[in-house]
Amino acid sequence: MKTINKIYVNGEFVTPHGTATFDLINPTTNEKTAEVVLGDEIDTQNAVAAAKEAFKTFSKTTKKERIVYLEKLRSAVDRRKDELINVMIDEYGGTHQFSSMAVQFAINDFTAMIDTLKNFELEPNVGTSKVRLEPVGVVGIIIPWNMSNGFICTKISTAIAAGCTAVVKPSEMSAQQTQILAECFHEAGLPKGVVNFINGLGDVVGAEMTRNPDINKISFTGSTVVGKIIAKGAVDTMKRVTLELGGKSPNIILDDANLEEAIPTAIIAAFLNSGQACAAATRLLVPENKLEEVNIIAKNFAENLKVGNPKDSDTAIGPMVSQKQYERVLDYIKIGEKEGATLLTGGTEKPQGLEAGNFVKATIFTNVNNNMRIAREEIFGPVLSIIPYKDEQDAIAIANDTPYGLSAYISSSDKERANRVASQIDAGRVCINGLSHDPQAPFGGFKQSGIGREYGVFGLEAYLEPKAILG
Ligand code: NAD
Repeated sequence: MKTINKIYVNGEFVTPHGTATFDLINPTTNEKTAEVVLGDEIDTQNAVAAAKEAFKTFSKTTKKERIVYLEKLRSAVDRRKDELINVMIDEYGGTHQFSSMAVQFAINDFTAMIDTLKNFELEPNVGTSKVRLEPVGVVGIIIPWNMSNGFICTKISTAIAAGCTAVVKPSEMSAQQTQILAECFHEAGLPKGVVNFINGLGDVVGAEMTRNPDINKISFTGSTVVGKIIAKGAVDTMKRVTLELGGKSPNIILDDANLEEAIPTAIIAAFLNSGQACAAATRLLVPENKLEEVNIIAKNFAENLKVGNPKDSDTAIGPMVSQKQYERVLDYIKIGEKEGATLLTGGTEKPQGLEAGNFVKATIFTNVNNNMRIAREEIFGPVLSIIPYKDEQDAIAIANDTPYGLSAYISSSDKERANRVASQIDAGRVCINGLSHDPQAPFGGFKQSGIGREYGVFGLEAYLEPKAILG
């Protein structure tokens, strides 16, 4: 059995001071496949010290030098693409389809950030003054398990472009993915201490990063609950924060949409990453006079989606990351039934033949009221709520009636109308007629979905401090 017993600090793979261990369980079989030795506060302090020392020189690098590092990182990650895909499948049950796309996105992040940096003015003139955009300092990167490689590559590419150094704390459940990525970063030949990786628990390593005075910014992706803890802790040392948090994204099907196209796409958007995606379109808003037609198409499409081994290239829904997450999703299905929503398909029974793993059937509730818990709370599993609306204004009101504001989706045969509706939705990203991704466009949340933006110019600016030189 594999043991991950090293962390990456100051350009070397070293034995952590921490000795606690964590079991890595394959969610497809619930068998233990590996073990990770967790770092502690001392390991975190060592990594921060290394990043602080490296910042002295790395912050002075030129745009050209940073672009060379970004190119090296991209090549190093690209070389181990297949291994990264396979480890995502084994470690958290990401489907082959999703994991392949996610790793490609991670590689593309470097390309996108190179393009952003090439066109970005680091010393613009403003008024009669010169403004120097200086790297913010040591960045603490704290991320979840559901697209670990992607989050690391987005955040590190931006940190490098800005001239920052970093300490990365992935989820303890992502230790095998982290190991490969740390090896890629080592091979890329960054100066020592520029990027450090610590495996560890949130309330140990994450908490130390939040309070450590030598970390100048935290870039966090994860739940809204933990985001709030980090924001509160970060204020003591006035750290800058970028918080990418949860969501309960609406998908508005306008009455002129082609349902045969829009509904299957909506279900794919809801069950993205087996439903374990922050941007999953988990509230499907449909005209009330089309509810019956939508129900028929949705049920038929969902029942033909393959729930199964994430290794199979035709699997659409893999297992939930952990037994705990599996139970949480099941609890929500029971809550939906108790609240009086109509179970259109799916439910709490395990799909046949998949009893060993954390599998949940593709589950759809219809006739859901937006006040029900299944419509308000993030479930993080393959559970979709279909909510009927009266007219366009009612759809917009329901879409915005949520504490979240990460993503939204609109389907219509009239692009202008869809754009008009998009302008009235409180969300950081609105996709019209399908799922799309643009690594230059800002990503982040309104309301309790977060603070700040990632990607492109908006993402880069969040790693820079403007210094105005006057006179
Ligand atoms: P989580 O918030 O429980 O954990 C995220 C990270 O925070 C982990 O590394 C964890 O160890 C760490 N952490 C936990 N407690 C901490 C503490 N007290 N101090 C510092 N760090 C701490 O999230 P999760 O369950 O791993 O992931 C799922 C959540 O992430 C969902 O809510 C999802 O919506 C969100 N998410 C958001 C985005 C986005 O871009 N907005 C993307 C993916 C996931």
